[in-house]
Amino acid sequence: MGDIGFEVLRERYSKFLSRRDAGRKLVSFWDGDLPSADLISLEAGLPNENLFPIRGIDLHLVSRPFDESGGFEARMDRYSEPEGLPIARAFQYSETQGTLPLLQFCRRLIETVNTPAYGDWDVLLGNGSSDAMFKIFETFCDESTTVLMEEFTFSPVVANVRATGATCVPLRMQLSADPAQQGIDVDYLAHLLENWGSMPEYAHLSKPRLLYTIATGQNPTGMTLSMEKRRQIYALAQKHDLLIVEDDPYGYLKFPAYDPSDPLRNPYDDEKNPLTEKDYLEKLLVKSFMTIDTDARVIRLETFSKLFAPGLRLGFIVANKFVIERLLNYTEITTRAASGASQAIVYATLKAMARQEAGASEDLDAMLSGWIKWVMKLAAAYTHRRNITFKALYETEAFEKKLFTVMEPSAGMFINIKVNWPTPPDADKTELMNELNKTLIKNGVKVVLGYKMAVDQPFSVQSSDFLRLTVAYAKDDSQLIEACHRIGTGFQEFFST
Ligand code: PMP
Repeated sequence: MGDIGFEVLRERYSKFLSRRDAGRKLVSFWDGDLPSADLISLEAGLPNENLFPIRGIDLHLVSRPFDESGGFEARMDRYSEPEGLPIARAFQYSETQGTLPLLQFCRRLIETVNTPAYGDWDVLLGNGSSDAMFKIFETFCDESTTVLMEEFTFSPVVANVRATGATCVPLRMQLSADPAQQGIDVDYLAHLLENWGSMPEYAHLSKPRLLYTIATGQNPTGMTLSMEKRRQIYALAQKHDLLIVEDDPYGYLKFPAYDPSDPLRNPYDDEKNPLTEKDYLEKLLVKSFMTIDTDARVIRLETFSKLFAPGLRLGFIVANKFVIERLLNYTEITTRAASGASQAIVYATLKAMARQEAGASEDLDAMLSGWIKWVMKLAAAYTHRRNITFKALYETEAFEKKLFTVMEPSAGMFINIKVNWPTPPDADKTELMNELNKTLIKNGVKVVLGYKMAVDQPFSVQSSDFLRLTVAYAKDDSQLIEACHRIGTGFQEFFST
């Protein structure tokens, strides 16, 4: 893919920067030049690596989720593998952008799975997507900025945007079981942007600059934007000059279609004809907005939270080189490099996965292949849990009596249950949802109320009568099934009173 050129990117995207960004100047009090090899550096404030209390770390890795048997090992040493991430390097102050070995892995992952439609993009590691969003909104939002987002969203994002003084405007979503329909209502978005100046409710706001979307396995709704919808939204972003922030913690956890006639069928684990890596990458995953981003206007967030462990606090941003420069500048004066310990653990695991995959070879391709296989095993585990949950919910008496509909998700950790009111309720739906919640808790099950994740509760009042449940955390299948039974009993009890 061709480069756009740094100066062109600067020209195009400087106007999106916040006032705060302009005020951020890194003041360096030492320079990195070494004029002669014999020079003894007493300059940088780095502790000597022999002062670290750890000499080595053994990692005991599992081959698949929930499988304690077998597995494989990785060892991290203080000084070994100089080209890799030894403890002396990873636990030292390190490069703010990310340590080179892990940075190279993340670049290769993006290049392979979601090849951007232009050349001069880069990656910046950070402390997970939450940290990435905080930095992005601080860099692109002021009091006058309007940010569009799905009407239901990961609530901390709303607080994050508002903390900069900017305003969040909700976008209507289609909460449909049809994969072609799911997610942002594109006609609504087009109408909003075309008629912005004449919409009384938004007359006091400036035209939107940013669109934040959780495009795949959306939190909370589980919806996924089809490629066709992504193209239409991208065309609108071009026409109305919007940056797209694509937050994607769940995209790799993609569900194959649910088959009610064979509810536990799991194509990832099909003994005769298991899903191949190629089919997973090319057919099942929905491609990132980056793959159609000829203008370099997409900022993509990936995280290791759902694919490895959230306690790492590790993720990365992919964006054009000018945007990465601005975010790197902010990172230099705030968090500095992401945790070296986390980077080292992930890197050692990737290398061990590569050895499992390709014997002696630990090159980037083997690492990538090992990683994708692991991610597919996770997606298989989530698909199994999706199947178990659907089957159990569809077998309840409450479902037979049509007291709820399952909003079938396309990816991720969440399943939503929409209440079917026998007659449209007179009372405030929010109050009724609170009452339903109390009944569910009494029956021993705890979920999230959809309306609590609405950007603007009055705006979404008609569509927020759903419950979000996660299939991720339950101990095992039987606990998930029991939870579904309790939901069924709770619904029956609620509607009988
Ligand atoms: N974005 C979304 C949409 C999420 O659902 C979550 C976690 N629930 C996050 C970001 C936070 O991710 P991280 O752990 O990488 O900060």
